[in-house]
Amino acid sequence: MQTPVIIMGASGRMGSTLTRLAREGEGVSLAGVVEREDRQEGLEHLGCPVEADLDKLLPQCPGAAIIDFTAPEVSLGTARTAARFGNPVVVGTTGLNKEQVAQLTVLAEKNPVFWAPNMSIGVNALCKVLPLLTEILGAAYDLEISEIHHRHKKDAPSGTALKLAQVLAEARGWDLDKVAAYCREGIIGARPDEEIGVQTLRGGDVVGDHTAYFFGPGERIEVTHRAHSRDTFASGALRAAAWLSGQKPGRLYAMADMFA
Ligand code: NAD
Repeated sequence: MQTPVIIMGASGRMGSTLTRLAREGEGVSLAGVVEREDRQEGLEHLGCPVEADLDKLLPQCPGAAIIDFTAPEVSLGTARTAARFGNPVVVGTTGLNKEQVAQLTVLAEKNPVFWAPNMSIGVNALCKVLPLLTEILGAAYDLEISEIHHRHKKDAPSGTALKLAQVLAEARGWDLDKVAAYCREGIIGARPDEEIGVQTLRGGDVVGDHTAYFFGPGERIEVTHRAHSRDTFASGALRAAAWLSGQKPGRLYAMADMFA
């Protein structure tokens, strides 16, 4: 059975990748797209309804799963509208603050909502491997994360870097808010033992690189994930949309739920 999907922000870097894969892909069909009026040029070739307002599209696409990779406020609005119409919604947007994540969590109690800062299989495999490495290497190893993205990315550090840092912090039993070092400058003194550095580089057209470092006595391990193409995130999101359509609401779903 094919899951009809609606793509929010269809002219964006992720939105255009999603529409291409949704049209090519098995298991999903493109039911409609939403994009700001000033960015709709060329979308008529998609052969599906194009709207600037999700409210106007949803009555034309009952049961469609909505996929939103836009901006935090827009994605929250999408989740609220989806809840009114009863459509499942997959959010890939990063840079949400704690309050915005809390609002998504509340909406997820009554309507199926999925949120993941990284939809690639590789990064989610990395999330499973990092706690094991942390445990085997032990407390003598200093933990650091670095990330590189294209020059247009709006939020920093990336949602994926924060997720990886969270995974490392949990593996050590630390509170990330207390141990994260997002910036180092000046006479900073020796590195505390209980610290996870998260450093950001921006430039060019890098799709997304993340490295977790384990610096130990006389050696270090670097585990790197490089996204070569946005297709990896888009195919994960389309898979999540098909999966979410069969789920009941109750809590905010994430990638780990899909692979459970
Ligand atoms: P982008 O700026 O290229 O695209 C955003 C699109 O949303 C634009 O086309 C814009 O016009 C549109 N938009 C803005 N307001 C809108 C509205 N009210 N209604 C409809 N459309 C609207 O950005 P991008 O590079 O595609 O990234 C989008 C988000 O996805 C970012 O938060 C990014 O970090 C995140 N992202 C997540 C993953 C993941 O795996 N979860 C992967 C890549 C990017």
